[in-house]
Amino acid sequence: MFNRARFKLALWFAGAMAVTVLAIGAAAYILISRSLNREIDSSIETTQAAITSDPGRLASLLVQGEDEFDDHHDDNRQALSTDVFFVSTNTSGDVIANPRQVELEGMPFKDLITSAKSGDAWRDVSAEHSRYRVMTTRLDTRSGTSFYLFVARSLDAHDSQLNRLALVFGFGGLAAVVLSGFGGLWLAGRALVPIRQALETQRRFVSDASHELRTPIAVVQANNELVLRHPDSTVDANLDQLEAIAGETEHMTRLVEDLLTLARADEGRITVAREKLDFAGVVEEVTRDMGALAEMREVGLSESCERSEVHGDVQRLRQLVVILVDNALKYTATGGNVNVSCKRSGRRVELRVADTGPGIAAEHQKRIFDRFYRVDEARKRAAGGSGLGLAIAKWIVEAHHGRISVESTVGKGTTFIVRLPSAE
Ligand code: ADP
Repeated sequence: MFNRARFKLALWFAGAMAVTVLAIGAAAYILISRSLNREIDSSIETTQAAITSDPGRLASLLVQGEDEFDDHHDDNRQALSTDVFFVSTNTSGDVIANPRQVELEGMPFKDLITSAKSGDAWRDVSAEHSRYRVMTTRLDTRSGTSFYLFVARSLDAHDSQLNRLALVFGFGGLAAVVLSGFGGLWLAGRALVPIRQALETQRRFVSDASHELRTPIAVVQANNELVLRHPDSTVDANLDQLEAIAGETEHMTRLVEDLLTLARADEGRITVAREKLDFAGVVEEVTRDMGALAEMREVGLSESCERSEVHGDVQRLRQLVVILVDNALKYTATGGNVNVSCKRSGRRVELRVADTGPGIAAEHQKRIFDRFYRVDEARKRAAGGSGLGLAIAKWIVEAHHGRISVESTVGKGTTFIVRLPSAE
């Protein structure tokens, strides 16, 4: 699927390049060709005008022979372009004078005369070895005889220039299209990487979520069947099964809630309020509320907070502190301690949740914020965690433009550190 999309994108890219190159090439070719033609025509016109306006030169054209043409440069006379040549013929197309002594083999004078008679004075013609641009003019002498003057210029240089141009545009364009095709392939490959990763993450998320729900569903089903096997027994007799069902249902409810939170966060559908609030107050409140849980687990819970304010969402920040303190209490063995502290540090507010629990090995520290990541699968599921708590904590911190990190030593304990921009 990705490879097809990649090739398609590259193809579009090369196609767009081909159209661009073609358009630019054609426009440049037409413009250059026009300007070359204009230059040729104007040199022919100038020469024709210089000859026809000069009786001396005209007279020479009526004399057979080669040396007679008065082509000298003097002050009163306009010099004739050396690229242009001129020939005179009688009305039947027989050459009278060829002052520049050019090879006239194959020059279709008769055709040119016919065209000129029908008003077409300008023609491009092919002679033996070259192509020429020719201007034909009919002239009459005072004595009443008519003759034709052909002023012409070879198109060889013009043709070879245009051919070279076409070659350069052709090969250059082809190279550009091929290169852009490969470039497009490379770029598309790079552009698709994050999409591929996002899809892969999504796929893993769905598969982990289903996997995560399978165990509690199986437990609920099994206990249900046990209860149904003895329809006459009392609720009291089935208390273990019913408690197991209730526990797993609660676990599933929490899991589904967490899944929904993350899915909505991914879609950007959760709006996080940005009101100025007493962060220390939030932390104190949560810690107080969790005192009973700490007592139940026989873990000491202490709290010390400096006055600090942040801009944020009180519900989400409460949730963040609950996740961190709950984890600390959950993973710390009986007799251990959890300390929650916050202080202002420069333009940041720093929250630390430190415990004397088992610690997290360095190789796991980076991954514990990933969804469904657990250091010890079996033990942590038994502890009731969904594996989504820290992923949600990270999202909340980032939504508040803060950072979360962990410092931990195996066997000694773990400290989670949250830094948020201070509102003061
Ligand atoms: P869970 O629901 O499993 O607690 P979390 O995302 O909250 O999921 O945590 C991910 C994993 O990080 C946990 O399974 C646990 O292995 C580890 N962890 C989190 N907090 C602590 C802590 N305070 N001490 C030791 N390990 C922890």
